[in-house]
Amino acid sequence: MVDGERLWRRLSELAEIGKRKSGGVTRLSFTDEERSAKDLVASFMEEAGLSVREDAAGNLFGRREGSDPHAPAVLVGSHVDSVYDGGNFDGPLGVLAGIEVVQAMEEGDVQTGFPVEVVAFTDEEGARFSFGMTGSRALTGHLSPGDLEHQDGDGISIAEAMRDYGLDPARVEDARRQQNSLAAYLELHIEQGRVLEAEDLPAGIVTGIAGPVWLRFTIRGESGHAGATPMNRRHDALAAAAEIVGVVEEEASSTPSAVGTVGQIEVKPGGINIIPGRVDFSADLRDIDVAVRDGVEERIRERAEEICVRRGVELGVEELQRLDPAPCSEEVRGVISDACREVGIRPHSLSSGAGHDGMHLASLCPMGMIFIRSRDGVSHNPKEWSSREDCEAGCNVLYWSVLGLAGRT
Ligand SMILES: [Zn+2]
Repeated sequence: MVDGERLWRRLSELAEIGKRKSGGVTRLSFTDEERSAKDLVASFMEEAGLSVREDAAGNLFGRREGSDPHAPAVLVGSHVDSVYDGGNFDGPLGVLAGIEVVQAMEEGDVQTGFPVEVVAFTDEEGARFSFGMTGSRALTGHLSPGDLEHQDGDGISIAEAMRDYGLDPARVEDARRQQNSLAAYLELHIEQGRVLEAEDLPAGIVTGIAGPVWLRFTIRGESGHAGATPMNRRHDALAAAAEIVGVVEEEASSTPSAVGTVGQIEVKPGGINIIPGRVDFSADLRDIDVAVRDGVEERIRERAEEICVRRGVELGVEELQRLDPAPCSEEVRGVISDACREVGIRPHSLSSGAGHDGMHLASLCPMGMIFIRSRDGVSHNPKEWSSREDCEAGCNVLYWSVLGLAGRT
């Protein structure tokens, strides 16, 4: 069985890297902090008896051979980068639990048929370049050279940041793994929601990961004097945007599961006494069912058009990103369900609203995720918390799941 104490100790040690006064961490991708975090994780991998390597995208792997060296590997892991002032569990728990599982196998003299690899993916969060999942995209062949041109707030591109980090962006394709090289991908992650808390369960089985569509709306009206322009002569871009923001909320709420968020808005010229002439704002729409999500998007687009025609303003909508929802493999879900019973946890299924590397891995091999209860559902925040006991219980579910997938010999 896994050593919950050791898992907790390593989590605390990793939380020191990029630590903030708030108690949270800032470990952005391709920075010294991410490097230090990976170096520490590599040392844990070595303690666990794994052979360690890093690929062309900076993904860190620790491998334990199976009795059949030619068999595809079971890949287990998560990420160690964070958002600005993020929590200590989002990512690190999955990587460290993976290491703990293979270390427990090593110590218990448990041999698997398939090799097991633990991975710490590069740049999952996308906090620095507003892109994200760079490592898993590279591994699955979903990264184009143009993607590396995304820039951070200082105008540094992913390609430049990779060079500073000691990687060659021209060789990022080398990180690609072949179809059939992986038997399955398994990730343990905090839920970042309240379902497990409400169910009074330490862990649960993920059914699938919701796919996001990111849109950028641009509304061009007419700026003018706030005092001298009568109300019936205005083409106020912000008043139109406000209506559309309401529509985003309304349309997402009209379905049982979709979510819609406007998180960025920019008003120009931005004077207290000037009618807004131009507004740019974002929309993030998600659902586990692509038809539901796309239906919400279509109705938002139609109603936005009507609003803008009625108000005499011009509407532009640009698509920034579109990822399909990724259902978890039935087979892997079954294995996790058996693992839950093994550990004495009632198997409970729930979906993931947040994106994870598994979305990309699902195109390469059967993918599954285990969620751990989050206190109050808080995440991307220093207050993010899962108890030591829940982390250990989840790690045990992971242990039995890996054993189920890699086959005990
Ligand atoms: Zn995460």
